[in-house]
Amino acid sequence: TITSSSERAGSDVRHEYLRIAGKKVETKARLEVRFPWDNRLVGTVPRATPELVAEAFQIAHDYKPKLTRYQRQQILLKTADLLVSRKEELSRLITLESGLCLKDSAYEVGRAYDVFTFAGQLCMLDDGQTFSCDLTPHGKSRKIFTLRQPLNAISAITPFNHPLNMVAHKLAPAFATNNCVVLKPTELTPLTALFLADTLYEAGLPPEMLSVITGNPSDIGDAMIVDPRADLVTFTGSVRVGKYIAEKAGYKRIVLELGGNDPLIVMEDADLDKAAELAVAGATKNSGQRCTAVKRILVVDKVADAFVERVLAKAKKLKAGDPLDPETDVGTVIHERAATLFQNRVSEAVAKHGAKLLHGNDRQGALFPPTVVDHVDPQAELVREETFGPAIPIIRVKDINHAIQVSNSTAYGLSSGVCTDRLDYITKFVDELQVGTVNVWEVPGYRIEMSPFGGIKDSGLGYKEGVLEAMKSFTNVKTWSLPWP
Ligand code: NAD
Repeated sequence: TITSSSERAGSDVRHEYLRIAGKKVETKARLEVRFPWDNRLVGTVPRATPELVAEAFQIAHDYKPKLTRYQRQQILLKTADLLVSRKEELSRLITLESGLCLKDSAYEVGRAYDVFTFAGQLCMLDDGQTFSCDLTPHGKSRKIFTLRQPLNAISAITPFNHPLNMVAHKLAPAFATNNCVVLKPTELTPLTALFLADTLYEAGLPPEMLSVITGNPSDIGDAMIVDPRADLVTFTGSVRVGKYIAEKAGYKRIVLELGGNDPLIVMEDADLDKAAELAVAGATKNSGQRCTAVKRILVVDKVADAFVERVLAKAKKLKAGDPLDPETDVGTVIHERAATLFQNRVSEAVAKHGAKLLHGNDRQGALFPPTVVDHVDPQAELVREETFGPAIPIIRVKDINHAIQVSNSTAYGLSSGVCTDRLDYITKFVDELQVGTVNVWEVPGYRIEMSPFGGIKDSGLGYKEGVLEAMKSFTNVKTWSLPWP
């Protein structure tokens, strides 16, 4: 039987179960989930085995969903409404397991609402095409039609940085297209995914359409990738694991949304206040843990001093600290190990590469406060690798060509933001930046949940996500034709 999440709301410590086709399943071993701010226990989840993953895929494979478009729409819209009606509880849960501040976790609930409402609306549209065949001298009186059919069983693996929204981006498009999903949320933030699963069952999702398996990737990772009944593996996470999945999956469809190292580029004509606002927000929202966070700021020399002054002033205003304090702007990163890595990268950029630390780098536990570093060398690990925290590293560049060269010099190619009003600059950026997205006067992360989104180079294979594109990935196009006298 399925109890709703609200029934469990009494205590802050949740002892959870797997959901195998809606059934709560226990295992011998368990994993702990802790609040990164003070390390207190937030919950425990089962440590599943490959056999349990196989059982979930067997059910998903055998079940052939027959929901009408109307039924799918009702389930998805109801889920969206339920999520918003439980915003406070859900936001607190996300904060407790991730250390993201309440402002960030509440924002995330709103984003998940968008994902489910878009999916609910988009599943009403039939995107089949029709082709007449009498178009050439050797044509015939026939018509060709296309329709989309579900793949059936989808394997979904999700990261920690948006415990709710990254899961929503896998589940909503899958159910909108009548697919079944076996979900493996990250072991770092599995509780929110279980909450979402219960919300979907409550909204009327046939339980066979969703199983949630928690555990260690070393135990169950391969089973999620190679199960012969999984028709597609959709993964969001690091480049390292993404490339492992690509190798392991063999002849199987995969969608990979991987890391980023996104620049915000500030040109000499830019309104520097506005640009500094975008730089600081883009680098620090969600504790800097967005694949599309601003991870490098490239500013032309001519305006760099005036720009840096503004960035510093804005960064100093941010309140970093207890994620559960409603006034906090920047909570912790995912764990102390990550915070220590970022601190070391900043120290190395200063000691070895001549950067200037202007603010921050005073880590306490998993709290890595907003950290402004100027004169960063593009070769420093701080900006060459993905620094997945609220660092604000500034690289000074000579001109647009230099900006594009530095921007394109890392292995990543996810997104970008540019601050300029000059059309010649804008068109050059759109043409020459090797990324999936160029946002003019916005942070690299700006999008709506249904617009195409995704990267190239090490950031992804070029297949896009966003509700509409994901619905395409999760379906096969079938072509059929008829005589048409
Ligand atoms: P991660 O790669 O460490 O983990 C992601 C998921 O993969 C987790 O569920 C984890 O348990 C699982 N996993 C780990 N090893 C595995 C294995 N061998 N086999 C199968 N599964 C395995 O990533 P993370 O640290 O949780 O997330 C942060 C990363 O995700 C960052 O690099 C960030 O940029 C990226 N990200 C990308 C996007 C995007 O859309 N491009 C969005 C959000 C996050």
